[in-house]
Amino acid sequence: MAVTMQTPLARVLGPKTATGMSEQLGLETVRDLLRHYPRRYASRGEQSDLADVQVGDRVTVLAQVRSVTTRPMKNRRGSLTEVVVGDGSGRMKLVFFNHRHAQLKPNAWGMFAGTVGEWRGEKQFAHPDMHLLDGEDDDTDWARALVPIYPASKDVSSWVIQKSVKLLLGASGELGDLVVDPLPEEIRSRHALLSLPAALLDIHRPTSMDDVERAVSRLKWDEALVLQLTLAARRRAAALEPGIARPRRAGGLLDAVDAALPFALTEGQREVGEELAAELDRDQPMHRLLQGEVGSGKTVVALRAMAQVVDAGGQAALLAPTEVLAAQHARGIRQLLGPLGRAGELDGDAAGTRVTLLTGSLKAAAKRSALAEVADGSAGIVIGTHALLQEGVEFADLGLVVVDEQHRFGVEQRDALRAKGTRPPHVLVMTATPIPRTVAMTVYGDLEISTLRQLPSGRGGVSSSVVPAAEKPGWVDRAWERLREEVAAGRQAYVVCPRIGDVPGDEPEDADGAPPEDDGPRSDRRPPLAVLDVAELLRSGPLAGLRLDVLHGRMTPDEKDEAMRSFAAGETQVLVATTVVEVGVDVPNATVMVVMDADRFGVSQLHQLRGRVARGKHAGLCLLVTDAPTSSPTGTRLAAVAATSDGFELARLDLETRREGDVLGAAQSGTRSGIRLLSLLEDEELIATARTEASALLAAERGLADHPGLAAEVAALATDERADWLEKA
Ligand code: ADP
Ligand code: MG
Repeated sequence: MAVTMQTPLARVLGPKTATGMSEQLGLETVRDLLRHYPRRYASRGEQSDLADVQVGDRVTVLAQVRSVTTRPMKNRRGSLTEVVVGDGSGRMKLVFFNHRHAQLKPNAWGMFAGTVGEWRGEKQFAHPDMHLLDGEDDDTDWARALVPIYPASKDVSSWVIQKSVKLLLGASGELGDLVVDPLPEEIRSRHALLSLPAALLDIHRPTSMDDVERAVSRLKWDEALVLQLTLAARRRAAALEPGIARPRRAGGLLDAVDAALPFALTEGQREVGEELAAELDRDQPMHRLLQGEVGSGKTVVALRAMAQVVDAGGQAALLAPTEVLAAQHARGIRQLLGPLGRAGELDGDAAGTRVTLLTGSLKAAAKRSALAEVADGSAGIVIGTHALLQEGVEFADLGLVVVDEQHRFGVEQRDALRAKGTRPPHVLVMTATPIPRTVAMTVYGDLEISTLRQLPSGRGGVSSSVVPAAEKPGWVDRAWERLREEVAAGRQAYVVCPRIGDVPGDEPEDADGAPPEDDGPRSDRRPPLAVLDVAELLRSGPLAGLRLDVLHGRMTPDEKDEAMRSFAAGETQVLVATTVVEVGVDVPNATVMVVMDADRFGVSQLHQLRGRVARGKHAGLCLLVTDAPTSSPTGTRLAAVAATSDGFELARLDLETRREGDVLGAAQSGTRSGIRLLSLLEDEELIATARTEASALLAAERGLADHPGLAAEVAALATDERADWLEKA
């Protein structure tokens, strides 16, 4: 029977190899194996390999045998063979017990794989796997000079993979029989791409790195296009769901909100507002992401959309990631609406609605009445945390869901809330983490995107500096002095620490944004600074006499609320907190933020944090205190954060310093995302072009019907567990 891309590997390879590939590498079919690309290519005389390997690495290297010495062991029976191999610059020792490999002789070339160990200060492999290259079966590969090194596993070595691939590639002299090219001919020629068979041959058996490059640019296309088709299909399906139009009505809550605003909307807010108003007026549910710098004024944009929905007779829900934020939103919105937010109460305005706060920590009676207001529709605006998602929360007519600070909410939660409407409600997701265009087009690819680029004018702006505590201890003292000066001038300050403290081994409050370990092993580092310890030190030291309070995730909701309230009211001058202040907290009088152990935070997280200061008319100051040396990668990263306030540039930097898999939400394994070659950092153009091509393909009358190969790839991604990250983004 003919071998196709769908043929199980067990039918073409030996059972042992096939089982190993399946269990250890997740490769099931011919397609999987052909799409298991080399990680790199080794060549004879290549300079760097051995010099670069680190103890503990599992590596495959290509090297030449320099010497072989065998001697009997001292205390045991048997012999010990030491083999020194080299690759130009580096050398390494291999150790075998009772070794009988006749071909392991000086000058032989081979591939050696194993975990790099250390013995008396020297790197070595103890009984490595090896594959000598002077055997007959290798001569053709060998002549090619570029030896593919594959991601391998314990039982499936790189050369077993190489051999299996060769078997497949050779099996059908003309690969064309085996491989159906999913890319439509016109797309291939429009973008000057190799055919799939040619690309597969070139990536697995290149004669030059140019071959590899051309193959990679073609194979990336497959990934980009299939991904974009999946997302485009999802957008189209969502667009077909019937929703309910919520048209704008004059003389209602929205007009009242506009009249009550103490400021003029920025141009951006007006434009996005128009966009939302028009979309709410359609009977297809809106799925939109609103991104805008911290402080760009997203809340009022959302509130205006909610008001429109209320005016049209529906309810709007605002989901916040924390109780602190939910309470703050409720306070702010109630204050703005005044009597219009208290319809049904004595001093309420009957033309308005009710603003109801529904959080997990409400007392039973309060909760019952909140639930009743939500269920009978008298609450037009419902604000809450994930408690809103729970069973038992029934809406009379949910028309719009606003999710604030999206990165804390998963798609499942979004869906749970959407399911609470009789028909799917409109959805607006807001995020203050600027999203690089490629990430927007992939991770958020099923949402339309609006961006607020402009900050309301009259903002002071924040200047940031790194305080290298280890190198310049004096600067730390100066930092506390600056803080005291600001407080003396009537302003307020945050001091942010990565940990709460007081409990042995407690974890960082928020590991989400933890930066990669780019400075080597850090097991020797001291634990991160903790809120409770730092607060104590400051109280009795540099900030003695100031009114200082703490805020962290282990406080009860009431305690948190009280801490936030008294800080907002100016009673507390200095708030020592974890990253709970990161998201959305709004105290315009706060002008200083000191981030302790700033190196423990991710780039975007620091940017978010500093957005908490200078939200009023006064200029702000952000001091990033760190022990990291100025010249280390971490020091450089912090300097970059201090140097720019462009969130998009920082988001890009963040992308560079994080592993792509993390961005895609597939932290466990880089190959599980369905994306092997495509880079969110480098392939922006390609992703954008593929998005356009995907939309065009689906817009055609017959859709993918004329492109069965492509349809099959899309189906494969959809059913593949690898596509999980698409759901979990
Ligand atoms: P974010 O986008 O970070 O959620 P907010 O919506 O919390 O920002 O707005 C930040 C602050 O800016 C709030 O105090 C808000 O009242 C204020 N604000 C919003 N829009 C404007 C505007 N057009 N002019 C002046 N201040 C504004
Ligand atoms: Mg906000």
